[in-house]
Amino acid sequence: MRCVSTRGGREVSLTEAITDGLAPDGGLFLPQRLAQVGPPPCADAPLWAVANWLLRPFFEGEALGASLDELCARAFTFAAPVRWLAPDTGLLELFHGPTAAFKDFGARFLAECAARLLSARGTRTVLVATSGDTGAAVAAAFHRRPGFRVLVLYPDGRVSVRQAHQLGAFGGNVHAFRVAGSFDDCQRMVKAAFLDRELQSRAPLLSANSISLGRLLPQMAYYAQAALHAREQGRAPLSFVVPTGNLGNALACLLARELGLPIGRVVLATNANRVLVDFLATGRYEPRDSIPTLANAMDVGAPSNVERLRALFSDPTRAVEAEAIEDATIRATIASTWRKHGVAICPHTACGVAALETLRGRGAHGPWVVAATAHPAKFDTIVEPAIGAACPPPAPLAALLARPARATPLEPSSEALRRALLELA
Ligand SMILES: *Cc1c(COP(=O)(O)O)cnc(C)c1O
Repeated sequence: MRCVSTRGGREVSLTEAITDGLAPDGGLFLPQRLAQVGPPPCADAPLWAVANWLLRPFFEGEALGASLDELCARAFTFAAPVRWLAPDTGLLELFHGPTAAFKDFGARFLAECAARLLSARGTRTVLVATSGDTGAAVAAAFHRRPGFRVLVLYPDGRVSVRQAHQLGAFGGNVHAFRVAGSFDDCQRMVKAAFLDRELQSRAPLLSANSISLGRLLPQMAYYAQAALHAREQGRAPLSFVVPTGNLGNALACLLARELGLPIGRVVLATNANRVLVDFLATGRYEPRDSIPTLANAMDVGAPSNVERLRALFSDPTRAVEAEAIEDATIRATIASTWRKHGVAICPHTACGVAALETLRGRGAHGPWVVAATAHPAKFDTIVEPAIGAACPPPAPLAALLARPARATPLEPSSEALRRALLELA
């Protein structure tokens, strides 16, 4: 499938878009058109088969086309079940992967693509800025893969203790850097590195941020599977609430709907970083500095994927809605979900559940599903006091937490990152 930059630019293949990450004009790649998909697989098809079906038209005629089945089978090794809390309210559990957040799906798919395309061409550095979960997912997906090294930047003190530990615990080809700044600083540093040609000639980079199409596209699969399954059960089209920061996950949901899947409304739930809510209310996109919240993986003041949203929809307000949730409501929602349903949710998921409660209050009916983006045990210091019970980590997370962790401090400047990259190369 040909891809184009959100800023015009020249066309490239999907393969190039995946390996290049950012377009040379600084824009983000999008498929040139959204191919309508063929008849879906049976409703109980495993997630990898749904992904294979959905992604097939995008990979037609691409270098990876012939191995797409195998790619999907290796990337999608865990399920994304819907847990119904009430007859019309569900949680789409996206945290059953190795690092217990939805980022595992995209990161593992990207790593499978990259291993086939690049590993024979010398060592690549996978450079990634993380607000907490991306870094771990990417590190896990590339850990010990020959031909790759991973460099993760995270904002020091702005990720949970368990997230920080997880990032520093891989070792081997994974290098964690704690940046004295915000996630937006980390993201700016990474963008500058990708636009630095001279640096890239000495230390070839691979982008693994949510700007990468190799992460974005596979995320459509779990929305598609949930939507098809609901149709099979005779439900009305599912509407989704997606806890949102950089807008990668929600964009995948919107793309799945554009491909023709039975999806109703799509609502972004943000934390107090309400730039998307204001954008949809006023039509003016005004990026600002992010503020720290309990839902730290969503502390984003300049969500890069807005550029894709605007390129895809002439009027984004007709495609998507948004609600902002304050920290006090996050805590109250974690507590009330535990009380009402006996289910522990992470602070990001709580933004989604709270947003849905707001919508229900305004009369939203029919089946709604909230994307549960991370396992609550990653945020034990917030969740445990709110529910008054222990929140034990799932086995893969427990294994990482048992290892020693190490991260190198880094100043929030492009020059500092450049030096670090060259030292490792
Ligand atoms: C990354 C992340 C989000 C935000 O996803 P975007 O794709 O950046 O909008 C929400 N919740 C959790 C747990 C995350 O890790």
